[in-house]
Amino acid sequence: MARDFDLFVIGAGSGGVRASRVASSYGAKVAVAEESRVGGTCVIRGCIPKKLLVYGAHFHEDFEDAAAFGWTVGTPTFDWGRLIANKDKEIDRLNGIYLRLLSNANVKLYPSHAKFLDRHTLDVGGERVSAETILIATGGWPVKPNIPGADLAITSNEALHLPTQPKHVIVVGGGYIAVEFAGIFNGLGSKVVQLYRGEQILRGFDDDVRTTLAQEMRKKGIDLRVGTDIARIEKTGGRLRAHLKDGGTIDTDAVMYATGRAPNTAGLNLAAAGVKLNDKGAVIVDDWSRSSVENIYAVGDVTDRINLTPVALNEGLAFAQTLYGKRPRKMDHANVPSAVFSQPNVASVGLSEAAARKQGYALDIYKTSFRPLKHTLTGRDEKTMMKIVVDAQTERVLGLHMVGPEAGEIIQGLAVAVKMGATKRDLDATVGIHPTAAEEFVTMREKSVPTVAKAAE
Ligand code: NDP
Repeated sequence: MARDFDLFVIGAGSGGVRASRVASSYGAKVAVAEESRVGGTCVIRGCIPKKLLVYGAHFHEDFEDAAAFGWTVGTPTFDWGRLIANKDKEIDRLNGIYLRLLSNANVKLYPSHAKFLDRHTLDVGGERVSAETILIATGGWPVKPNIPGADLAITSNEALHLPTQPKHVIVVGGGYIAVEFAGIFNGLGSKVVQLYRGEQILRGFDDDVRTTLAQEMRKKGIDLRVGTDIARIEKTGGRLRAHLKDGGTIDTDAVMYATGRAPNTAGLNLAAAGVKLNDKGAVIVDDWSRSSVENIYAVGDVTDRINLTPVALNEGLAFAQTLYGKRPRKMDHANVPSAVFSQPNVASVGLSEAAARKQGYALDIYKTSFRPLKHTLTGRDEKTMMKIVVDAQTERVLGLHMVGPEAGEIIQGLAVAVKMGATKRDLDATVGIHPTAAEEFVTMREKSVPTVAKAAE
C-alpha cells in the first residue's frame, strides 16, 4: 500500500533532525512534526542557552582576577535583561538554521502535535498522515515533585526566561542541571541555596569529583545543603517561603526544581500502535533503536538511555544509516564522555573508581589536586582535581575524571584515547604540553591510595 512518507519523525530536536536529514539524503521521502520550536531541548532550552549563561556568570570572577594581572576595572554592573535578550537572539538564529537545514534537505515540516492512530498512521494537527516507518524523537521534559506549592516553583525552562534576576534563589536537586544553574545564579550575583536530598551531589560521578565540586561550590559562596528537601512552598507577599522537611524555612524570590526529566510519551497515544514503555514512560528499544513494534523506532531522551545530545545525534545517525543507507550500525554506548558546566567544570569518560571496583577490577588510582597557574597570581583558592582509574592487571585506562577550568575541552580529546583502549603506559609515553593543566594527565606517576579503600579505613 502506498503511504504518504517513507519516514515520519515525531520531534525536531537533535536526534529527530539528524535522522530526518540523513534519511532524506539517502533518498527517503521524509516528514517531521514539531509542536514547539525546531531545534529541541539542547538548542532551544538546554545546552546552548545554558552555556551562554555560564559564560556570563564567569565574568564575575574574571573581573576580580584581572586586578592581579595589573588591570584596573571599575565596579562592574550586570544587566540580566541584556544577557537574556542577547541569548534569545542567538537561539532565534539557531532556530532559523535548523529550519533551513530541514527545508534544504527536502524534509517536510509539520508545525503540529502528532499522535498515533495505528502503527503506520498518525494524526498530525488534525491531518491523517501515513508512513512506512515512524521514528519517535520527542525528548524529555522537566518534572517537579508533587508537593504543595510546586506550581509556585520554576524549572530550567522558565529560569532561562525570567524577566528579572531573583536576588535569592533555591535550587533543588544534585544532578547536572542543579549544579549548573546554582553556578549560573551565583556567578551572576544571586544568593543561592542548593538543596539536595542525598548525601553528596552528582550521584553516579566519581566520588573525588563529587567532593571536590561540592567544596569548590561552597567556596564560591553557594549555600549547598545535603540531606535536605522541601516539604511545601507558600506565597508570602511578593516572595516565596520554602518549608523544609526538617522543619526549617527559607524565604526566597524563586525556587527552581532540577529534579530530573521524564520522557515525552504521554500525548502520543502509543497504545494505538502497541509501543511498549518502561515504568518511567520511556520507549523500550533494542540495540538498533527499534521499539516493540517492527516499523516504529525511537532515539534520544525519549528512550532514557544516556540522555545527552551527542548520544541522540549518534542514535539518529545510526538509525538512518541502517535503514536507508545500507550501512547497518548500532550506536556504541560504551565510554561516552560528558561534561557538567558547573563552576568549575566537571568532565569524565569511562568508569568511576567505585563503578570499576563494583565490576570486580583490581585498580591502580592516580590522582592530583593543584591550584591552577593563573591563580598563583590571583590568590584565588580554587583547586583543579584530576584522576585516572586504571585496571591494575592490564594497565588499561578505565576512567578519566576532572574538576577544573575547561574540563570538557580536555576530556574530549582524551576520550578518543580511552575509546581506543589506551593503557597507562600510553599516557606515560605521551609528551605533555607545558604549561597546561591537561599535561597532568600524562605526567602522573605516583599511585595514590584508592578513595574507596581510604573511606573504608
Ligand atoms: P538528574 O537525573 O541528573 O538529577 C536529578 C536530581 O534531582 C538528582 O540529584 C536527584 O536525586 C534529584 N531528585 C530527583 N527526584 C527528586 C525528588 N522527588 N525530590 C528531590 N530531589 C529529587 O536530572 P537533571 O534534571 O539534572 O538533568 C536531566 C538530564 O539531562 C541529565 O541526566 C543529563 O543526562 C542531561 N543533562 C546533561 C547536561 C550536560 O551534559 N552538561 C546538562 C543538563 C542536563 P538522587 O541523586 O537522589 O536521585
